[in-house]
Amino acid sequence: MIKIIFINTLRRVRFAPSPTGPLHIGGLRTALFNYLFAKKTGGSFILRIEDTDRKREVAGTEKYIVDALNWCGIFPDESPGTEGAFGPYRQSERNHIYSKEIRRLVESGHAYYAFDSEEELASCRKECEKRGETFIYNYESRLALKNSLSMSKGEVAGLLKKSKGHVIRFLVPKNKNIKTVDVIRGESNINSSLLDDKVLMKADGTPTYHFANVVDDHLMKITHVIRGEEWLPSLALHFLLYDAFGWKRPSFAHLPLILNPNGKGKLSKRSGEKGGFPVFPIGWEGETKLTGFKEYGILPAGLVNYLATIGWSPKEGSEALSLAELIEMFQLKSVVSAGANFDLEKLKWYNHKHIQEASNEFLVDKIQDLDISAQKIERKQLAEATGMVKERANTVSELWGLMEYLFLDPKGYDEKSLKKIKKDGLDKICSEIISLCENTNDPGGFIDSLKIWGEKNSFGAGQIMMTARTILVGGLKGIDLQKIISFVGLEVVSKRAVTFSEMNI
Ligand code: GLU
Repeated sequence: MIKIIFINTLRRVRFAPSPTGPLHIGGLRTALFNYLFAKKTGGSFILRIEDTDRKREVAGTEKYIVDALNWCGIFPDESPGTEGAFGPYRQSERNHIYSKEIRRLVESGHAYYAFDSEEELASCRKECEKRGETFIYNYESRLALKNSLSMSKGEVAGLLKKSKGHVIRFLVPKNKNIKTVDVIRGESNINSSLLDDKVLMKADGTPTYHFANVVDDHLMKITHVIRGEEWLPSLALHFLLYDAFGWKRPSFAHLPLILNPNGKGKLSKRSGEKGGFPVFPIGWEGETKLTGFKEYGILPAGLVNYLATIGWSPKEGSEALSLAELIEMFQLKSVVSAGANFDLEKLKWYNHKHIQEASNEFLVDKIQDLDISAQKIERKQLAEATGMVKERANTVSELWGLMEYLFLDPKGYDEKSLKKIKKDGLDKICSEIISLCENTNDPGGFIDSLKIWGEKNSFGAGQIMMTARTILVGGLKGIDLQKIISFVGLEVVSKRAVTFSEMNI
């Protein structure tokens, strides 16, 4: 039976993280740009787990990456959990493929066996250091070292038979100009003599990043490699590898770094800790627990929108944009090469916009996810209160704080507010609030009635309002006072006023 595989001839991009710990928002931005680029033309977004370095692997990372992407609304078309035609999508499961491909490179003379032990290489390095030079395994040194280029065929066959630990190195040509092209950065030239003969296969028979990465990008029919700037120094080597195989190269785009808020260095966990913000999308439940933007109260739409503006800007004057709108607008060629400082205020600004656009019911879910006290409140009431306060919130975490007094009695009273209302007649105002609660059946006209009473008894509106607010909220903050009263009801107003008067302030 002939198996027909329909290959999407549109863009195929991949996000290829190594599972060495939770995904940093820098990595998430890379995934996002890949996704936006692919989806604009209905192409495929592939998640490939680059787990060749088993020693550095951290348990739980792969799940974290998938959860974080899904939280942001990014669902890979092909991944370890969504097998497509080009799997497996975990490099640790592709060793048979790498073994076959490395043989081709060795046979075509582009790679060679090297038998130097760690100790021998260390002593070469030392020797060079003594002369003030740096040891490089390359065209200059390779013939003086132990490898299949310097040894006889017989010796090599003998060593291979004994299965003595050996690596396979790339034979980097001498003095060849490598012209690299990057969609964002343009052309650049590098002389191959500056490169070393990189190890492609390690002594344990597993591939190194460079080798597996190039082989997989080719076999998975990746059309565009979009990755972080930190991989730019590897580009020339990758170009040479494609040439050695005789494969057509994908297009490359290296995204600018996300820098610390002060512009110094790559955004780090430490600078997040200093500035009081996370650098991960969602919480990490590893040995050391880490808070994510989710727990910080950032909506996925807010984070995605903000990340999309780091290194790229949607059309001028754009406000909150959804993932679908970002896909529509995204242009890889208008990504800039300069790094951008992480800007918490800008992130909050986007989040604020997305909070305003979100439905109250949607926000209730998020609030109840974050706040245990909010879980005890009836959803309908919580949704109504959310609608009343959300214009003041930059984060979901702030929402509960902004409406807590609509459900719970004040735990105490703010000192500064008390100072302001402590004037002659405070107890009179307090008693009036209590008696008005008993004598009116119009909560909506409560403030007006109180003001009329104040006029008659020579109390300014300001003093009355501040007193009522402190009694109800615990301080001089909160939404429109009449709205608070209508929401909580006269029974609660009376109860809070009684509690306040009993404090004998
Ligand atoms: N595994 C590499 C990383 O962790 C992927 C680099 C690339 O995209 O080529 O970032």
